[in-house]
Amino acid sequence: MPITAEQQAQIDEERARSQPTRRAVAPGMEEHLYTAYPVLDHGFVRVIDYMGDDAAITQAARVSYGKGTKSVSNDEGLIRYLMRHWHSTPFEMCEIKLHVKLPVFVARQWIRHRTANVNEYSARYSILDREFYIPAPEHLAAQSVVNNQGRGELLEGAEAARVLDYLKADSARAYDHYEEMISDEGQAGLARELARMNLPANIYTQWYWKVDLHNLFHFLRLRADAHAQYEIRVYAEEICKLVADWVPFAYTAFEDYRLGGATLSDRALDCVRRMLAGEEVTQESSGMSKGEWREFRATLDGPAEA
Ligand SMILES: Cc1cc2nc3c(=O)[nH]c(=O)nc-3n(C[C@H](O)[C@H](O)[C@H](O)COP(=O)(O)OP(=O)(O)OC[C@H]3O[C@@H](n4cnc5c(N)ncnc54)[C@H](O)[C@@H]3O)c2cc1C
Repeated sequence: MPITAEQQAQIDEERARSQPTRRAVAPGMEEHLYTAYPVLDHGFVRVIDYMGDDAAITQAARVSYGKGTKSVSNDEGLIRYLMRHWHSTPFEMCEIKLHVKLPVFVARQWIRHRTANVNEYSARYSILDREFYIPAPEHLAAQSVVNNQGRGELLEGAEAARVLDYLKADSARAYDHYEEMISDEGQAGLARELARMNLPANIYTQWYWKVDLHNLFHFLRLRADAHAQYEIRVYAEEICKLVADWVPFAYTAFEDYRLGGATLSDRALDCVRRMLAGEEVTQESSGMSKGEWREFRATLDGPAEA
């Protein structure tokens, strides 16, 4: 259960309030403000605040006195130009502040993106909830045999049941001991900052995460990628939907040049030119390693059919 009735009431109260402002407002994002969008079994993403819109990007690029907009097509063209040429600072003029509830092992990947401001729920002061990420059966995959950082076939039958039992039982047992250790019924109880150390990495934590649009795109480029771990990818995909409504021109340019686009090395470009000239290029004649060639072919072939 990502949100309790009491928390939902607080969110509804926030959403019912509005005030006039001279600041730039993105209508698409106004619709999302404060709403908690569920992710995984107990997690969510919700927008707490944002600054700027598509026009803020062109306004900064033109260092304008006014709104900075010329015409819609002109603005869209400028944003695409900035994205194409890695002129990134205008995108830093937009900011977003998210409230995210996520398993600790996902937070460990997420926190590697250092160009953000974070404030995490304190398990020194507060008691963590009994909420653990337990993968749905369709995500209970075996270790990949070709990629050390990936997943292979799904676990099935008795093996899947055994793994799920372990995950549930270990989480429950660790939390029972956590509760017992901090219990203050007739005993002082272990400090919360110490008792938390026996909790597994699938327990949920929460944080406020503030980042500018340029660095958010960098995060989304890596974490919304098909190769990213499923458990962080679903958060990134949810954020992509929000960003698409917030800054539609910038998001479309990002989708086109970064998410869907590809960077080719000098050797890879040479191969493309030779192929266009009709030459049969192979891995051996490409000058690329087997791994590079595999990735290059995958880029040319496009996504596999579902
Ligand atoms: C598929 C994948 C596998 C990974 N595997 C591992 C792993 O096995 N082990 C592991 O530890 N990490 C791993 N990571 C994390 C990865 O190494 C990066 O830490 C993470 O992706 C954040 O990227 P970043 O540093 O570019 O982002 P940010 O920290 O947000 O930084 C954004 C940009 O700001 C600049 N910047 C930020 N801080 C500095 C700095 N101190 N000095 C110079 N420039 C800076 C850089 O240009 C950087 O690209 C993995 C990431 C991915 C996507």
